[in-house]
Parts: sequence; structure tokens; C-alpha cells
Amino acid sequence: MVYDVGTPQHATHVLLMHDELLRALDRDELVLHYQPKMELLTGRVSCLEALVRWQHPDRGLLLPSEFLSVAEQYSELIGPMTSWVLRRALADCTAWTAAGLDWAVAVNLSHRNLASLEFADTVSLMLRESGVRPGLLHLEVTETALAYDNEMAAQVVGALAAQGVSISMDDFGVGFTSLTRLRTVQVSEVKIDRAFFADLPGDDKDRAVVRSFIDLGHSLGCLVTAVGVESQDVADALVDAGCDQAQGYLWQRPCPWEEVARAFGSATTATASNSSTSDSASTEIEPATSGPGSQGAMNHP
Ligand code: C2E
Ligand code: MG
Repeated sequence: MVYDVGTPQHATHVLLMHDELLRALDRDELVLHYQPKMELLTGRVSCLEALVRWQHPDRGLLLPSEFLSVAEQYSELIGPMTSWVLRRALADCTAWTAAGLDWAVAVNLSHRNLASLEFADTVSLMLRESGVRPGLLHLEVTETALAYDNEMAAQVVGALAAQGVSISMDDFGVGFTSLTRLRTVQVSEVKIDRAFFADLPGDDKDRAVVRSFIDLGHSLGCLVTAVGVESQDVADALVDAGCDQAQGYLWQRPCPWEEVARAFGSATTATASNSSTSDSASTEIEPATSGPGSQGAMNHP
């Protein structure tokens, strides 16, 4: 290793963060925010995706970009953190099901979770303990995670799918593994990143590229979900291109599930929040400003 003046500082930061995260797990400082997946044609919510945050005692609410990469470097962190997220998400799913909401729950996995078959047993145990139907649990795996430890990751994903859990491929198309992997791994949803559709409605070529991507997902037997939709124009163009579902600030920033329930629980049509909800990240922790009464139906065919 070549000495670099930045390195010791970086290493210190990682070690400090490691210790702080261990304490955070002990002190129950993690929280889950949820973002709904909207069915574009019906306007219904089909699922809530759990997104982990850290309510840091000094630094406030931290996003995963500030701590996840450190957690992923240590198995004594990422294992317990994923278990905590799964347990909390299944408990929340039980709570909204009891409130009459038939929404599935999606949990993001790290590539480190796919390194051992034990993980599939852990999920099976948690499902039994929570009483949540396996079909209501969607596990989101990134394309790159499947590339890491090809065979073991594919086996773990296969074992999870065999339990009836749905597997989603996050960041579909970002790497080069999708097509090979989708032939062998049982995936029921692909999620396309905003980078692919940011230019929509765009010109004929832009639309053709997005449509081909969506057609590809459908040909592989998957639902296609667009992530990061911020404007009605993009949502409309995605509907024209045949996309099934979408998530984004247009409808709801990630927030506690009770807020999603207040905004969408009794609504039967999709409801785009007005632009004031997508001002800044700080909105994330404020109560939702829009309720079913203030929302208009989505303007889709
Ligand atoms: P992801 O699974 O692709 O989640 C989507 C990210 O896009 C989320 O960022 C979400 O807040 C953000 N987003 C949603 N709608 C919009 C939009 O309209 N515009 C823009 N610009 N962004 C939008 P977040 O919450 O910071 O999460 C980042 C990543 O961290 C997630 O990407 C996921 O890979 C990872 N992550 C989150 N929670 C967990 C977790 O519990 N476990 C693991 N292993 N990873 C997690
Ligand atoms: Mg995800």
C-alpha cells in the first residue's frame, strides 16, 4: 500500500463510524422510512419500500449514503443491520395489514447478505415469527450484488425465491450482468434507475430506448418499476412506454409508513403530491403536507 496523507484520516473515520454504528444498533437509533410503489395504470399503491435512516444523536437524520458503505465493510454490522431492517419492516407490514392496507413490503439487501445460505434461513425464520405471507415480502438485490459472488449469491436468491419471497433487481441495466443473471435467477421485478428516463419525454430516440428497456423486462417475465420519478411529464411518458409501476418524489418522499397510509390509505386513485413536497431532503422528516382530499387523480389513460 502506498502511503497517502488522506488514508489515516479515512481509516480513523471508518473505525469511528464502525463503533458508532455498533452503538446505534444497541441503542435502537435506526429508523425506517418508506416510499410507495405506484401502479401507473390503476394509481394504486402496491408496495412500500423500506429505506433505512440513522437518527444520529448529534448529526440528525442520516441517509444511507453516509453510513451504509462502512456497515457493508464489517459482517458484524451489516448482518445485524439487515436483520433489524427486516424485523422492523415485517412488523410494520403486519401493522398496516391490520389497518386494512394490502401493501407488500420491500427490503433492500446488501451483497454481503448473499454470501451465505444462512441468510435464507434467517429470512424464513423471521417470516414465520412475523406471520407475514412470504409473497408480501419483496427483497431488492442490486445487479452488482449478484455479480459479486456469482454462484453463492444466485443460490441464496434461489433459496429465497423458493420460499415464495419476490425478488426484485434494483439498478437494472446499470452493470453488464443483468441479462445473464436474469436467465438463471428467479426475478419477478426489475427496477430502472432515473438515469435511463431522466430525458423523457425527450425525442423519438430517447423514447425508443426507454421502451426497449421496458419491453426487455416484460419479455423476461418481470414487472417493470421506474425509480426516481419527479415530474408528471416523465410519469406520462413512462405510461406511454408501457412501464408498470413507479416511485418518486412526484408522489411521496420517503417517510414513516403512517404518513404514507394517511396520504394514500383510503385513496383509490394515484395522487401526485404538489411540488412543495419535493423541495429538499429536509421535507423527508416533516409530516406529509398532502392528504387524499387535496390530491387529484393521475392523468393517465
Ligand atoms: P435504492 O434502493 O435504489 O432506493 C432509491 C433511492 O432513491 C432512495 O435513496 C430514495 O430516497 C431515492 N429517491 C426516491 N425517489 C426519488 C426521486 O424522485 N428523485 C431522487 N433524486 N431520488 C429519489 P436513499 O433512501 O438515500 O437510499 C439509497 C440507497 O441505499 C438505496 O437505493 C439502497 O440501495 C440503499 N439502502 C437503503 N436502505 C437500505 C437498507 O435497509 N439496506 C441496504 N442494504 N441498503 C439500503
Ligand atoms: Mg431499492
